[in-house]
Amino acid sequence: MTQIGPGNDVAIGVDVGGTTMRAAIVGTSGDLRESFHQPSPRSPSALRDFVHLALESTKLPVRGIGIGCKGIIDAASTRVKSLPGDLHFLEGRLLSDVVGAGELSVCAENDARAALVAEALWGAARGRRNVVMLTLGTGVGGAALVDGRILCGASGAAGHFGHVTIDPRGGLCICGNYGCVETLFSSRAIESNYWAHLHRAAPAKLSLDSDGRPPDTEAIFRTAAEGDECARYVLDSALEHLAAAIVGYLHTFDPEVFILGGNIAAAGPQLFDPIRNKIAQRTRILLGREVPIVFQKVVGFGGVAGAAGLVFLREGLLKIG
Ligand SMILES: [Zn+2]
Repeated sequence: MTQIGPGNDVAIGVDVGGTTMRAAIVGTSGDLRESFHQPSPRSPSALRDFVHLALESTKLPVRGIGIGCKGIIDAASTRVKSLPGDLHFLEGRLLSDVVGAGELSVCAENDARAALVAEALWGAARGRRNVVMLTLGTGVGGAALVDGRILCGASGAAGHFGHVTIDPRGGLCICGNYGCVETLFSSRAIESNYWAHLHRAAPAKLSLDSDGRPPDTEAIFRTAAEGDECARYVLDSALEHLAAAIVGYLHTFDPEVFILGGNIAAAGPQLFDPIRNKIAQRTRILLGREVPIVFQKVVGFGGVAGAAGLVFLREGLLKIG
């Protein structure tokens, strides 16, 4: 990161997720001056009111509003091109209109890309120009920085790393494709695979809860560490698929660093050690070096900080690389 202009400039960063929306007043060092969160909006006016709450709480010079949002976002116009699910009411809308901030500039981008911007400006990708990031949670999201620019593609959909086929005979995915990374490594995939083992009465230490729900991914990692054969088998298989996918991304993008973020990445060495081992040997010939695979640094409010970073980049206050 290079800071071009000094001063007290701030931007409002907003992250609109499936369950929570967050906002913060963010300085050019990525520092959060004040932060806010509420359940995800159920109407455009709820989002507007939330953003104005943050906007009105500061007297510092606000350079703009940055919004990171699920779905496919046209950054040039701030239009939400595609957003299935609970936030569907934003589809087709210009986020700049929804927010209604008058003269203030509004930037918008997909939330995984905003998280990567945060890493590029203040985190694990600082000073780098070629970076790939995966977010591992209920699904698998991602974004890539290619020669210093966030990869968007012809229609803005580039970077759907969770929807690359790893097993051509694999299960049907939410996206309509088969055997995607997300069907093999995601909290949904890991939990449903553990459930399938329980259903077959395989030897397992965990069981369904009183409502019939399978154990969550965190519990499966924990019990694997304690020696549960079923959890170990499920995670070994999931990690094998994730590692295979990462090898493909490394060969495609040749990044300086590869970042893993999201809830599952918090599993730490249990996730990173086997993956690093599997990958190093398989990328030796083409890449000739070991690409660092690291945990995201800007956690928690990373999407918010990155959304504010979009404003700083547009205003020329910061630059990537
Ligand atoms: Zn898919």
